[in-house]
Amino acid sequence: MAGDLTPTLLQTPQWSDDMLAAAGIPVLDAPFVSVGGGIGSFVTVDYLRIAGVPASSIRVLSNLDRPWQTYEYLTRVSQIPHRERIRSDSSSRPDNIWGFPSYAVSEFWQDKSLKPLLHVLGEPIFADYWTPRVGMVFTSMKREADRISYDSMLAKGVVRMVRRRAGGGYFTILTPPAGTAPTRRVAFRSRFVHLAVGYPGLRFLPDLQEFRERYGDYQRVVNAYESHEHVYEALKTRPGTVVVRGGGIVASRVLQRLMDDRERFGLQTRIVQIFRTYVDGPHGPHLWMRRKGGDGWAYQGFNYPKSVWGGQLKAQMRRLDGPERARLYKDMGGTNTPKRRRWQRQMRDGRKGSWYFPMQGTVERVEPRPNGGVISHVRNGNDMQSVPADFVIDCTGLTADIDRHRVLADLMLHSGAFRNPLGRLEVERHFEVKGTASGDGALYASGAATLGGYFPGVDTFLGLQVAAQEITDDLARRGFVRRIGPWRSTAQWVRWFLGKPVGG
Ligand SMILES: Cc1cc2nc3c(=O)[nH]c(=O)nc-3n(C[C@H](O)[C@H](O)[C@H](O)COP(=O)(O)OP(=O)(O)OC[C@H]3O[C@@H](n4cnc5c(N)ncnc54)[C@H](O)[C@@H]3O)c2cc1C
Repeated sequence: MAGDLTPTLLQTPQWSDDMLAAAGIPVLDAPFVSVGGGIGSFVTVDYLRIAGVPASSIRVLSNLDRPWQTYEYLTRVSQIPHRERIRSDSSSRPDNIWGFPSYAVSEFWQDKSLKPLLHVLGEPIFADYWTPRVGMVFTSMKREADRISYDSMLAKGVVRMVRRRAGGGYFTILTPPAGTAPTRRVAFRSRFVHLAVGYPGLRFLPDLQEFRERYGDYQRVVNAYESHEHVYEALKTRPGTVVVRGGGIVASRVLQRLMDDRERFGLQTRIVQIFRTYVDGPHGPHLWMRRKGGDGWAYQGFNYPKSVWGGQLKAQMRRLDGPERARLYKDMGGTNTPKRRRWQRQMRDGRKGSWYFPMQGTVERVEPRPNGGVISHVRNGNDMQSVPADFVIDCTGLTADIDRHRVLADLMLHSGAFRNPLGRLEVERHFEVKGTASGDGALYASGAATLGGYFPGVDTFLGLQVAAQEITDDLARRGFVRRIGPWRSTAQWVRWFLGKPVGG
């Protein structure tokens, strides 16, 4: 097919306009391109539109139709359906750069009920933290997407690579869906590129990967981020034992689903939970950095301590590089989950009723059982234990190495990008990818691929918005957009409130 990448293009780090013409790849111009089209792209272009950049100057290159599509999929399979509540707080609103009114106020207004307002006033003493329903996150993002003409900026396809352009800026190569373009590839020529490609991929634990490959069994050993509804359905038809591996938010959601189904349908499900690190009380490196814990779990209301957003941790991390930065991430990191009253009660019932068994250990091997089911061989110090079960649900991780992502791998190989102290993409304090400058252009990145940078919360709604604000400010320094001053901000908030399209 005409218009494809040639060996010369593949091997040359910096491309000229003539090289693309010679390869027959059509070139489209857009001053700002965002790659990914998920929530990170959405909040970034939302900032730019509110700052006054016309939709015609922005292109979002994505394989998604809706910015919340991947998030919707991941939350659904990891047991957060539309009516359930997510983890982040009331004012983390990807549809609203001001965070005001918060989701709790919107829910009060929508449901004509004082409940959410009373809840946020009493949290966390009299109630668990109030968090929004996932369905509300989607409907409010849809409203904002319409307001900023998101669809008019979207170009569908899979991005293959971003390369520097001779003379400044970048070329981003898109493979449009088959049959929608006369050539196999299209190039976007832009001064600025933003990458928000989400999680590089699923990471399977080696013993589970080996089990699946060796025995070809993808039904009994599943990852919580894959569709695994068949497990819950099978447990409704006959009693069974499930091994849950992990101790984070997803493990607690999966556990709650198993326990809810037990209550709702009167099931006999037995649950064995394997924690690699079993937390039996408050813990942390020193007095000022402690986290509650118990019964295996480490508890924390939100993904990050609050001081990450504007307090000491934010200021401290901004100054650190290399191993010192990695050390601070280690100190505040670790798997954790919010302590919610409902599943605490369910776990207590489970321990008393001898159907929930938490244990510590590292699984060395998983094998099929002769009469069906699987056996996990678990080591705890010198002890080995065999845990038979009907299903294993792995809730341990979503993040694969960044070089599993083609665009990021290409960037590190050909464009000067390199890894940060946590092994992800190193970005500046204003989220420009270090080492990739090209003339008067700049390449930015935000989201999970950049975790480990000067700003810790970058893989959350609010973190993606903080990154978007830094990027918009940097673009203002470069003269691409006006700074959002107090007047513009107020006028734009009023438009947001009234649901009017962003003005010029
Ligand atoms: C189960 C779960 C629950 C979470 N809950 C919360 C929460 O409650 N609060 C919170 O603040 N954060 C939460 N997060 C974290 C984070 O805010 C979301 O995952 C968010 O969607 C991340 O946005 P993103 O743009 O980085 O990634 P995504 O929304 O996944 O978007 C990136 C998208 O880019 C597309 N893409 C990738 N490569 C290419 C390519 N080469 N070409 C074209 N398109 C490409 C893919 O479709 C990909 O999905 C949660 C994460 C998970 C997994």
